[in-house]
Amino acid sequence: MSKTTAEIRCAFLDFFAAKGHQKVSSSSLVPANDPTLLFTNAGMNQFKDVFLGSEARSYNKATSSQRCVRAGGKHNDLENVGYTARHHTFFEMLGNFSFGDYFKTQAIQYAWDFLTEELKLSKDKLLVTIYHDDDEAFDIWSNQIGLSEDKIIRISTSDNFWSMGDTGPCGPCSEIFYDHGEHIWGGPPGSPEEDGDRFIEIWNLVFMQFNRQSDGTMQPLPKPSIDTGMGLERITAILQNVHSNYEIDIFQNLIEATANIVGTDDRQDKSLRVIADHIRSCSFLICDGIIPSNEGRGYVLRRIIRRAVRHGNKLGASGVFFYRLVSALETQMGEAYPELTANRELIEKVLKTEEEQFSRTLERGMSILNNALSELTSDVVPGELVFKLYDTYGFPADLTNDVAREKNLSIDEEGFQAAMAAQRKRAQQASQFDTDYNELLKSNCASEFTGYDKLTNQAKIV
Ligand code: ATP
Ligand code: MG
Ligand code: MG
Ligand code: MG
Repeated sequence: MSKTTAEIRCAFLDFFAAKGHQKVSSSSLVPANDPTLLFTNAGMNQFKDVFLGSEARSYNKATSSQRCVRAGGKHNDLENVGYTARHHTFFEMLGNFSFGDYFKTQAIQYAWDFLTEELKLSKDKLLVTIYHDDDEAFDIWSNQIGLSEDKIIRISTSDNFWSMGDTGPCGPCSEIFYDHGEHIWGGPPGSPEEDGDRFIEIWNLVFMQFNRQSDGTMQPLPKPSIDTGMGLERITAILQNVHSNYEIDIFQNLIEATANIVGTDDRQDKSLRVIADHIRSCSFLICDGIIPSNEGRGYVLRRIIRRAVRHGNKLGASGVFFYRLVSALETQMGEAYPELTANRELIEKVLKTEEEQFSRTLERGMSILNNALSELTSDVVPGELVFKLYDTYGFPADLTNDVAREKNLSIDEEGFQAAMAAQRKRAQQASQFDTDYNELLKSNCASEFTGYDKLTNQAKIV
């Protein structure tokens, strides 16, 4: 029997705890003390001030399984969901951290030992990348670990150089990849085919060793540090002998529950994967205190919910369905995250309300969109139409884009932005006069107007 996701999470934390690392609980998806970050997107986020030296902890080595969301901001994998085998909006990042304690030699050795001794992965399925001028890392992988030179790939892009910002701590990375086999399309990192899913990145080891000054010079840090991140779902896929993250235990169960609720037989349908992914991000975001709204984090949540609802609708779901998956999620993840159980009713209520609100206009919006698409003479969806769907039917632009992409079409982003700007201008001009409530009422009824509050604050997050 292969290990479950829960067992692998435990194995990782125990491995590093046995090596003197403090087990630290996952922090919230809403980053504390970091207004620049939309959502927690890496294990290191909660240790940022420790790395910067402005916060002291009672330990100098830590390990965690951090819940992360990458659905906006610098890291945005929303568009990848349903299209790659390896991306989620919500995932767990396993990490080990050294705050000025061990460095490169030890970090590489730990990672290798965990993969090949603890998890017993086959050594010849693994290959690594290093930053092009990091001869020290090359030497460790080659001489200490014994990896053959053709499996150590030098990369010169920022993918293999991590930095916290324009100045401050930074350093090269070394990423570990797993070869899922020749039958899957894709080439090794650095090759033209690397976007395929044959070679999947599983673990990123970051060697924080410089402090970048405002003039660009790199000062060596007095106490170099280590930050690593490994996707729990990706390592689980390998250990459960499947290629895609969506075939691991948690996802298979969520997909099964979704298929039963919406009443579909085709377990391979992409929409099932999208819904199974989205129920995790939406539930955990609500659990961490985010409520659907028209701006900021709440708007990202709203967009993900609406996407999920649209995919359910596409599969033929009758009535509200999305909130009914919370109980399946709780079965899968409630033990590791008791807060999911504690907040279950709230999560269900928020999702249900949002879904009911959106369902009312979804059908009409979809029929307008499908009609317009069938009459299209180019492969670009006009910005005016994207705007109308957004303004009248609450279809965020990325939702329209999701539909368009299924038909190999793209959307006219610029035209959409221009229509948004024009609308904002009209709203501003109108607000210079007294409101005629009778007129407003008439237009509300005529077009199922969903509220002026949407108009002013969205352009930045389409
Ligand atoms: P990729 O190149 O595959 O998008 P990444 O380089 O963006 O991954 P990192 O920022 O290095 O990822 O994050 C560390 C690890 O977290 C990755 O090696 C991967 O195992 C995991 N990971 C990153 N993004 C996702 C995601 N969207 N879904 C699931 N796991 C992820
Ligand atoms: Mg990425
Ligand atoms: Mg990468
Ligand atoms: Mg990476």
